[in-house]
Amino acid sequence: MEMEFENLVRENIRELEAYSCARGEFEGAGAVLLDANENPFASGYNRYPDPYQRELKQQVARLKEVDVSRLVLGNGSDELIDMLIRTVCVPGRDNIIVFSPGYSMYEVSARVNGTEVRNLVLDDDFMPEWEGIFERVDERTRIIFFCTPNNPVGNVIPLDEIRRVASRFDGLVVVDEAYIDFADVPSATSLRGECPNVVVLQTLSKAWGLAGLRVGICMAEPGLVKYLNKVKPPYNIGSVTQRMALEALKNVDLFRERVEEIKQERERVLVALRGMACFERVYDSEANFLLACTPCYREVYDYLLAHGLVVRVRHIPPRLEGGLRITIGTREENDLLIRVLKDFR
Ligand code: PMP
Repeated sequence: MEMEFENLVRENIRELEAYSCARGEFEGAGAVLLDANENPFASGYNRYPDPYQRELKQQVARLKEVDVSRLVLGNGSDELIDMLIRTVCVPGRDNIIVFSPGYSMYEVSARVNGTEVRNLVLDDDFMPEWEGIFERVDERTRIIFFCTPNNPVGNVIPLDEIRRVASRFDGLVVVDEAYIDFADVPSATSLRGECPNVVVLQTLSKAWGLAGLRVGICMAEPGLVKYLNKVKPPYNIGSVTQRMALEALKNVDLFRERVEEIKQERERVLVALRGMACFERVYDSEANFLLACTPCYREVYDYLLAHGLVVRVRHIPPRLEGGLRITIGTREENDLLIRVLKDFR
């Protein structure tokens, strides 16, 4: 299925020239580089990074089994969220659809960029009310953001539902899969070909353990990638990051081992928290965190903090139930959490 992205992308971006890098035109070694106003004295860092991130993209493409032409890399997926909004939403005119509870940066980026946010509350099972979405979509709706597994709950949205929404909607359906490697479900990248308006976001910050490097991955139709590359700052990923990420991605065995360990720990911590009187409810999760709700969440939060354990408070609409989002740590960290919580009150 083909899609015309021309109608979706902002007019001023359609008309832009994509950034092009002169040294990319020279093939071979030993060029004298006088094209980018760099300092000639070698420091290891005196040259700009590769604006096309070619080596890193090739490695990501192999790993994710997608073509390089479908990839855009960002300074974290937060940058990609921002780039997507800036590429398709006209400030003061367009809107996006988000769900709550959900990840907050879709709304932040939209508002920074003058884009209206239509917030839909998830149902009691933390699922969108599917028909309700289309009551809020209008001709100015450019993006629907889904987060699966969802932050801060950890539940996943079935791909069939995403497929159904994407086939009824003219804009982009962005599926944020920051936590997908902790889940036992297929990625929305499997919808490629079928749903050209589906854009998948992943990151090296979570399962790959590289949050400090800042690498986000966007997988989309080449027809859209073309425009995203016009919006992307040329040097958005530093040379050290590119090199370190490339090295880290070669160690798939270590990645799998760590993900397995975190998943096992998640189940162990879940059972332990469910056995505690201080939490009313602890939700199943396919991510690397657990949402534990209790009316006395503040006291539990302060108590944990006093014991050197930092978790996150989350307010869960519609009931504004108070919850603590607790990241799964190492075995020792989780043991400490459980030990400290057992002594609460
Ligand atoms: N999406 C979701 C759902 C997240 O939870 C996060 C990080 N908290 C991000 C995106 C951003 O991740 P990063 O910018 O590190 O890739």
